[in-house]
Amino acid sequence: MSANPEYSFFGSVERSFDKAAQFTTWDPGILEQIKACNAVYRMKFPVRMDDGRIEVIEAYRVQHSQHKTPCKGGIRFAAEVNQDEVMALAALMTYKCAIVNVPFGGGKGGIKINPRKYSVYELEKITRRYTAELVKKNFIGPGTDVPAPDYGTGEREMAWIVDTYSSLRPGEIDAAGCVTGKPVTQGGVRGRREATGLGIFYGIREVCNMPDVMNKLGLPVGIAGKKVVIQGLGNVGYHAAKFFQNAGAKIIGLAEYEGAIYNEGGLDVDAVFEHRKTSGSILNFADGKNFAKNTDALEYDCDILIPAALENVINAENAPRISAKIIGEGANGPLTPEADEILIQKGTLVVPDMYLNAGGVTVSYFEWLKNLSHVRYGRMEKRFTENMNTHILGQIEELTNKQVNSRERQLIVHGPDEVDLVHSGLEETMITATHEIMDAWRKNPQIPDMRTAAYVVAINKVGTSYAELGIFP
Ligand code: NAD
Repeated sequence: MSANPEYSFFGSVERSFDKAAQFTTWDPGILEQIKACNAVYRMKFPVRMDDGRIEVIEAYRVQHSQHKTPCKGGIRFAAEVNQDEVMALAALMTYKCAIVNVPFGGGKGGIKINPRKYSVYELEKITRRYTAELVKKNFIGPGTDVPAPDYGTGEREMAWIVDTYSSLRPGEIDAAGCVTGKPVTQGGVRGRREATGLGIFYGIREVCNMPDVMNKLGLPVGIAGKKVVIQGLGNVGYHAAKFFQNAGAKIIGLAEYEGAIYNEGGLDVDAVFEHRKTSGSILNFADGKNFAKNTDALEYDCDILIPAALENVINAENAPRISAKIIGEGANGPLTPEADEILIQKGTLVVPDMYLNAGGVTVSYFEWLKNLSHVRYGRMEKRFTENMNTHILGQIEELTNKQVNSRERQLIVHGPDEVDLVHSGLEETMITATHEIMDAWRKNPQIPDMRTAAYVVAINKVGTSYAELGIFP
């Protein structure tokens, strides 16, 4: 959102699209169709507040593309919600889903309220009424449009949505698939909480495993030993930091809104997290030093910088001082377009948000598949796999007269739980998407940056869908 009334977020998405479209060969009509928002539903509905007042609520649901159905995208509760913003976010969802091969069109919803100004009961009434409005116009359903959480919404709101939908559509067997991000007890999937941070790790690890890319950046191949700085120790930043640390990277800097700390030898992420919880601040961590300002962390000498807090934190002012070789956009829009240009000139590799933070939507897709199949991942095969692995291991031990230790035994025998399968599906998704983007870039060196290459991949996939579907007369 911008305070400038002239600024259009949707317009800026269109500009990024146009920049990439010149590297494709699609008919201009197809490009126009890919860009267009197919359906915009703007609604107003009355809700009675706790004090007896009736308030008229403004809300939106945008379906940007139905080249694949259902449409998919979060619902945000924020005072600044407007049509332009919801349209832009819906368009980004189309491209994001295409890049990570999630077979959905893009959608987004928004309710123009500051959720902190309402009681829980009022929020429940607003959410349920919004869902009823969506049902009336067929803007929600497991086969048409599947919302998810976004700013200001979470598992609680998703539970209200699925309950409202199910009661308005009694007997609809796939009703649980009308929304994702639900609590596990209401049809949610295990592994969603850490999905975005884990997806970021898988994406960056894959980039770091590409010898040509690392050569160009003057870095050794692999994640182990890489120096990482992370901004934001929230859901995305914390999990990303943990996965990098577990893989042998050194977390040398961590930033929060109250300050930032560093240690060249590496910070222990959980110890920092605990210190912040008990002391109320990330500063004065026993095993680290304070930066003068929290933004200093962004400029610290490192291999990988992960901004995972807010948008526009790297801009024309500080971009020239960024020394990271790789920036992994964990947050949405952490770089301004001016910063993007400066970093391209410097040769920094910016791994774009649109694909790098797609772990959430990928795991949402797995949740939707679980809802349609009506069975928890792993339920059918876990014991079978364990019995078979035990048998094979027993045979090997008998034939070799040797025994594996108990830790190895556990690893070999283990049959997959839901969380194992979700992580594995996410790993496959991020590896494939990274290769598709890099291959598109290698094929056309005129493409200036990885963000544009990601858009090219998205345009080609959505374009292929439209071209193969043909135009309904
Ligand atoms: P969050 O609220 O859990 O975490 C954000 C963290 O950033 C908080 O700990 C906050 O204190 C910190 N922060 C705030 N201002 C800061 C500042 N000036 N400097 C340093 N740290 C600061 O949110 P999140 O879910 O982790 O999301 C972070 C970003 O990632 C957002 O841009 C969001 O849109 C994006 N994102 C999130 C998901 C997801 O699944 N959660 C998916 C895709 C993208």
